[in-house]
Amino acid sequence: MTKKKKQHEGREEVIEVATRIADAAVFGVCPDCLSNDGYLNIRSSQYFVCHAHQFFWFYGVDMFDDWRFELAKTWRASEELLAGYQLINPFTIYLAAE
Ligand SMILES: [Zn+2]
Repeated sequence: MTKKKKQHEGREEVIEVATRIADAAVFGVCPDCLSNDGYLNIRSSQYFVCHAHQFFWFYGVDMFDDWRFELAKTWRASEELLAGYQLINPFTIYLAAE
């Protein structure tokens, strides 16, 4: 392995860690795997999920506007999925403002 390739891999790890920190600060992450699989809309409410650990948490109302373009059957399917998951408090971090 060349030194240049090692440096490149190191950068990817830094980007992955930075992404997880940003996710934890902004959306919250699963306490088990420190990541999330994005969010589902149920009507105007957004819930972030971890499918691997079957956790979900409430994020907010109308935080993103894509729910306006979804159908009621999509929300029903999300409700049915989340009914089998556990509602948790996500792992979050607070980044200090200057
Ligand atoms: Zn998880």
